[in-house]
Amino acid sequence: MIRFDNVSKRYGSGQDALSRVSFDVARGEMLFLTGHSGAGKSTLMKLIMLMERPTQGQVFIDDRNLNRLSRRHIPYFRRKVGVVFQNHQLLFDRTVFDNVALPLQIAGYQASEVGRRVRAALDKVGLLSKERHNPIMLSGGEQQRVGIARAVVNKPPLLLADEPTGNLDPELSADIMNLFEQFNEVGVTVMIASHDLALLKRMNKRVLGLSGGQVAHDGVLP
Ligand code: ADP
Ligand code: ADP
Repeated sequence: MIRFDNVSKRYGSGQDALSRVSFDVARGEMLFLTGHSGAGKSTLMKLIMLMERPTQGQVFIDDRNLNRLSRRHIPYFRRKVGVVFQNHQLLFDRTVFDNVALPLQIAGYQASEVGRRVRAALDKVGLLSKERHNPIMLSGGEQQRVGIARAVVNKPPLLLADEPTGNLDPELSADIMNLFEQFNEVGVTVMIASHDLALLKRMNKRVLGLSGGQVAHDGVLP
């Protein structure tokens, strides 16, 4: 699902944010990405989302070489990748329903299809009863669930999450991790950036550890 082949990324004149990074993620895998601040986690995710381009090397997503993706195909490609942010980036002047509907409206789905899919996504995260609420009325954990519903409403084969539990207490973090595992169980490939060591150990999944822009660890933590 994801292949990095000798990928380096240098911003401006600075040092390499990533240097010679190679790894593979199989379809249907769930793994974590970790490393100290500045290790290159965000850069790695931005390369997958086509928000940045590698300086060297190649990134393949779902067997597509992103270097060869034409501009015209970028919007279609982006729909394959659901993204969950730490601060969830919800719009507080719209309802929960409208926040989740946004990616579908951008993609041009018909209203009836939007309604069906949004309700299915809200149902999966346990928030169907709050579709008419403004997200500002919801708890932090619920807001994060809305962010997850929005990320999966397109049914992307790949789900990326950048510190999705960064602002949540351990109990809510566990709930959110359960949700990611549920999506993973139905075949979605899931990659989660986190530097919560306790969480990484508890989850007992593959951990890709970055240090100074290089892969310093790849495997389940001891
Ligand atoms: P992490 O997400 O692990 O904190 P980043 O990928 O954000 O790491 O950053 C890796 C390195 O690249 C850091 O040294 C950071 O300062 C640098 N960097 C990140 N984004 C940019 C940018 N847009 N311009 C210049 N340097 C950047
Ligand atoms: P994170 O908390 O994910 O590590 P940062 O706080 O490092 O993110 O960076 C926030 C934003 O600023 C990101 O978009 C990153 O690419 C950008 N950035 C990080 N370092 C630099 C830098 N040295 N120069 C310019 N932009 C940077």
